[in-house]
Amino acid sequence: MGWRSEFIQTMGEGGPASLIFDGVRVPHRNILGEIGQGFTLGMEWIGKGRYTIPSHAIGIAERVLQMAIDYANTRETFGAKIGTNQAIQWMIADSETELEAARWLVLRSAWTVDQGLDPRHASSMGKLYGAGMVNRVVDRVLQIHGGMGYTRELPIERWYRQVRLYRIFEGTDEMQRLIISRDLLRGYTKIGGHLA
Ligand SMILES: Cc1cc2nc3c(=O)[nH]c(=O)nc-3n(C[C@H](O)[C@H](O)[C@H](O)COP(=O)(O)OP(=O)(O)OC[C@H]3O[C@@H](n4cnc5c(N)ncnc54)[C@H](O)[C@@H]3O)c2cc1C
Repeated sequence: MGWRSEFIQTMGEGGPASLIFDGVRVPHRNILGEIGQGFTLGMEWIGKGRYTIPSHAIGIAERVLQMAIDYANTRETFGAKIGTNQAIQWMIADSETELEAARWLVLRSAWTVDQGLDPRHASSMGKLYGAGMVNRVVDRVLQIHGGMGYTRELPIERWYRQVRLYRIFEGTDEMQRLIISRDLLRGYTKIGGHLA
């Protein structure tokens, strides 16, 4: 939908692919971790790196929000800049507020990684919120650009397609919610986590 075209632009080809391992023998010295523990190891690794996804989202949201601000200060309809309309101002305000909230969630999960603490709960919250945030921000930015936002003359429609993936890969929204609620329901973490 979006990610593939990004790869085509930079690498010439790409996109999701199937990997099939048939009759592969791995030498003992190349085994990572313990036999039968690969899934646990993989989940640990993903948990530690998960906050990088919403950090991409923050960069994208900053870029497109600035585009919306510039456009709101330039585009005129009925003799006035569109940024003088409360409807536009509120979209900008909501976007900046959500962007800042995502930034703090990401900083917190990066902090838990730095401290050597279990980052999975904080990272799931950052991933869930950051992925939703960038989708909402890009949608508003497209709306602020009106018909121009929908065309391929601006990069917004590409971001609109690309950021949809953020709610799916490295664990879907539903999986993040499952992790967050399970941690609380089973008492693995308390409300507010390490900072409470
Ligand atoms: C462009 C792209 C790039 C990708 N890159 C990578 C990569 O680099 N590495 C990698 O490992 N994977 C990658 N993926 C795979 C991605 O992580 C998976 O698509 C994602 O985890 C969802 O798995 P699935 O597609 O099998 O959906 P499914 O597991 O079939 O889920 C379908 C729907 O059901 C929901 N669902 C499933 N189980 C439950 C449940 N127990 N409770 C509630 N809801 C549930 C899901 O949230 C989803 O909404 C990529 C995918 C895409 C599209």
